[in-house]
Amino acid sequence: MTLATDDFASGVLRIAIDAPLRHPFDYLAPAGLSPAAVPLGVRVRVPVGRRETIGMVVDRADQSEVSSAALKPVREVLDATPLIDGALMQLLRWTADYYHHPLGEVIAAALPRALRDGAPCAARIECWRATTTGIDALEAGALRRAPRQQALLARLAQSTRALTGADLSKALPGWRDAARVLTGRGWIERLELDASSPASSPAAGHEAGTATGAATSPPLSAAQSAAVGQIDASAGGYAAWVLQGATGSGKTEVYLQCAARTLARGGSVLVLVPEIGLTPQLVQRFRARLDVDIAVLHSALSDAGRLAAWRAAHTGQARVVLGTRSAVFAPLPRLGLIVVDEEHDSSYKQHDGGCRYSARDLALVRGQQGGVPVVLGSATPALETLHNLKAGRYRGLTLPRRDDQALAPRLALIDLSAHAVHRGLSTPVIDAMRRHLAASGQVLVFINRRGYAPTLLCTACGWIAPCHACDARMTVHRASGQLRCHHCGAAEALVERCLRCGCQVKPVGQGTERVEETLRELFPGEALIRLDRDSASRPEQLDAILERVLSGAARILVGTQMVTKGHHFPGVTLVAVLNADQGLFSTDFRAAERLAQTIVQVAGRAGRERNRGEVLIQTQYPQHPLLRSLLEGGYEGFAAEALVEREATRWPPFGRLAVLRASTRSSGGALAFLAAARQLAPVGGAVRLLGPVAAAMARRAERYHAQLLIESADRGPLHRFIGDWLPQVETLARAQRVRYALDVDPIDIQ
Ligand code: ADP
Ligand code: ZN
Repeated sequence: MTLATDDFASGVLRIAIDAPLRHPFDYLAPAGLSPAAVPLGVRVRVPVGRRETIGMVVDRADQSEVSSAALKPVREVLDATPLIDGALMQLLRWTADYYHHPLGEVIAAALPRALRDGAPCAARIECWRATTTGIDALEAGALRRAPRQQALLARLAQSTRALTGADLSKALPGWRDAARVLTGRGWIERLELDASSPASSPAAGHEAGTATGAATSPPLSAAQSAAVGQIDASAGGYAAWVLQGATGSGKTEVYLQCAARTLARGGSVLVLVPEIGLTPQLVQRFRARLDVDIAVLHSALSDAGRLAAWRAAHTGQARVVLGTRSAVFAPLPRLGLIVVDEEHDSSYKQHDGGCRYSARDLALVRGQQGGVPVVLGSATPALETLHNLKAGRYRGLTLPRRDDQALAPRLALIDLSAHAVHRGLSTPVIDAMRRHLAASGQVLVFINRRGYAPTLLCTACGWIAPCHACDARMTVHRASGQLRCHHCGAAEALVERCLRCGCQVKPVGQGTERVEETLRELFPGEALIRLDRDSASRPEQLDAILERVLSGAARILVGTQMVTKGHHFPGVTLVAVLNADQGLFSTDFRAAERLAQTIVQVAGRAGRERNRGEVLIQTQYPQHPLLRSLLEGGYEGFAAEALVEREATRWPPFGRLAVLRASTRSSGGALAFLAAARQLAPVGGAVRLLGPVAAAMARRAERYHAQLLIESADRGPLHRFIGDWLPQVETLARAQRVRYALDVDPIDIQ
């Protein structure tokens, strides 16, 4: 007891726990330790009720508001040194405050699962290197008959440092069999190095000079050099750069050069890419050009893979982190540059579950906090970004099309009501395809819907196959023989007869599968490939498809938005957009922006050398102002007009928005809850509440969804309001058993 009193006298530790709790908890330091001896940013095991959980030390305090008798000591300190350093903790705190999300959950989201579960942070990592006898054997050609062994040995022999098992698995899948034979012969050897010891930091030897990768980089264009020069000159302080240039204009070259210079100065680099932009091809390009270890972080990693990548970044072994959204929280000692590629991409926003952060916005905050330049690259910057550019908060850099690149493609609208249409393909599109294929061009057919058809209809009684969990139709997936709901993921066997009257059913409308089928009939001799989430669910599949298009093996590419994500197809001379109309009449104020970006991004795939590409956009509404402004003024013209409209309606970036979403199993529950939540808000003030209204799709995944918009001209009042209001909403939600989520800066308010 005296011990506890002593500890209390010298203060308490504040521990953030992975739970929906607004505040950290106070604990006493473990017996025999003073709180000051426990570093911030280490994990601890603490008792919570009758359970035990793992939390993180985020603060110390002299006193607790909890009575000393109720305070319990930490049971165990798990790390000797912080997992999260002061700079990263500052970012996580900012995230928790700004998105009004519990710090413990934000921290948990930033850590790999294995670390959340208590895995040790320091670890031995397996590395391999070639022995001198091995190198001699290789040079003597001893392995000519054993290509796999030869490839492995050559790889190790070429490397100036030992390669990790993870490196090898990426480069040479299935290498372990070969490794066993080679180890047996004494031609390669396995080492175990401590991941946190500098000796195992293979990058250490590359700090000076060799990291410039200059040997393989093409000479930069004047615009690229200027961009690299300006960005580089801003090193050592915060600056936000908008690097605008069409796909293929050389943005990635600029990132690579800036990264090389940062590395040469001893800094580390964070590169964020959209979920589907992270292909093995891109990783390969970074690996080939930057002679340091690169940690790759994305959502498809195994727990072990994620832990390994995180550790490599944390220890400084990997000085480049290339990753998707959550990599914005990657630990990077001596961070010197942040790149956000395709910054307009909506996959940077966490859409569901947990803290709904924008990795793009957080990258800027991280840059600001750490005094690091941030490069936002895009062919179609978000309207917010253009607004910030205009307001002088960001600095602009433009890359024109490169000399060997095509002229900007010619866009034309095809009025669907004025032409014959065969299964979604109008005669002018089919004719243009024939023309381009005959002239040995490649053709890209874009349709923003995967599956075979969006509807399965009974022509006798009018029955439409419904999703039983949503207000939605089932999509026909013929290849897998399924009906699938694209909203909740439900799947059923595809039926041939109507479930109501037993008559024949037929698929209505087009998806990628059906367009593929139709095009195979129309162009029987042409190699065709489909790119959507079904045909490319893994990065390797995506890579294989891209490779077939790039090599020219496939002449026709049918795809969804996946084709718009940063891949450059120099051989494509015609792009056909089959359904431009989906985004034209949406209730979401951002739908038009997304549609314009999609069209411009797809269009950007067309054209080769001086051969001007052609882009045909099928629409029922050729007079629609959005389509006209795009056609006449390009993305800039569209953006200028769209910003005027946003200003008039006070939508972001001219106003600040948050949305409170709720869902219940009962039909009226979510609306009633939000109405009650609205009642809790003070009347008047600088904040306006709009709604509640049912979501555009009210019933989804067996729950009823509704939302309440919270709007203000400025950030300050909005955040103060939410700060006061949300705890009351929370109490109400608990009482009414409602699921709810607050989304600050929502990008989708359907
Ligand atoms: P982006 O990132 O804008 O799509 P990339 O940097 O990927 O553009 O460049 C597209 C292609 O052009 C790549 O194959 C790249 O190697 C090549 N490239 C870029 N800059 C140059 C240059 N200055 N000289 C020659 N080739 C270049
Ligand atoms: Zn459904």
